[in-house]
Amino acid sequence: METVKAKKFLGQHFLKDEHIAERIARSLSGKESRLLEIGPGMGVLTKYLVDNPAIDFRCVEIDRESVAYLHEHYPTLQVVEGDFLKMDLNSLFHDSFAIIGNFPYNISSQILFRVFDHRNLIPEVVGMFQKEVAERVAAAPGSKIYGILSVLLSAFYNIEYLFTVDEHVFNPPPKVKSAVIRLTRNNVTSLECDEKLFVQTVKVGFNQRRKTMRNALKPMGRDLSDIPETLLQKRAEQLSVADFILITNRLKETL
Ligand code: SAH
Repeated sequence: METVKAKKFLGQHFLKDEHIAERIARSLSGKESRLLEIGPGMGVLTKYLVDNPAIDFRCVEIDRESVAYLHEHYPTLQVVEGDFLKMDLNSLFHDSFAIIGNFPYNISSQILFRVFDHRNLIPEVVGMFQKEVAERVAAAPGSKIYGILSVLLSAFYNIEYLFTVDEHVFNPPPKVKSAVIRLTRNNVTSLECDEKLFVQTVKVGFNQRRKTMRNALKPMGRDLSDIPETLLQKRAEQLSVADFILITNRLKETL
């Protein structure tokens, strides 16, 4: 119990229910031949992934004790001891790969922003998050929980909310329920706008989400006169990916 407490900052909630581990593993499309598991811990999910000879399977785990445990129980498993947020994803497989995991909840958003940044390297993600994060990622425009990650990820991925998981199947149980989602890369290669400016526009738009876009975008210091009034009167949470692209293309430098 002591170690569990001391490691709280690692976001460790170990799955106890094998059926759920198996169900997560089965949620992969099976189309990808390279797979990375983030945070395998004691390997409850790993067990259902490791035996497939058709898949080049690797794990990244930050906790030394877990890595030692994995080496002992799965001698052939390729485990990188380190931080997923810091590892070089381009040189991991030198090719595209899917991601799976019962993720460390304290870094959920950072994992998802990394996926967004590496969207052309990561065709698929199957993962467990706290339910609230999963719902936010999968939310559609018009919903109060639709936010930055919903827009950015849905620009490049089809997002499916797969199933909800009760807190009692974990040790220690988290305070909230969890949910498994699947992201599958769509065929959009370019958003047909300045993508850096798009990301900035989405972030600034949601920064003050109660305000209309006209007011929310003011801090950007741009000329908004080419943007349709109907869009400027809406709030960020009411706008689709296409609306944000249009706004990005109509933002003008102020002279
Ligand atoms: N998949 C296991 C463990 C889930 S808990 C299970 O379902 O039981 C989350 C795991 O992520 C822990 O093992 C924790 O040590 C690991 N972890 C936390 N931060 C990490 C990081 N930045 N990079 C890689 N692994 C991390």
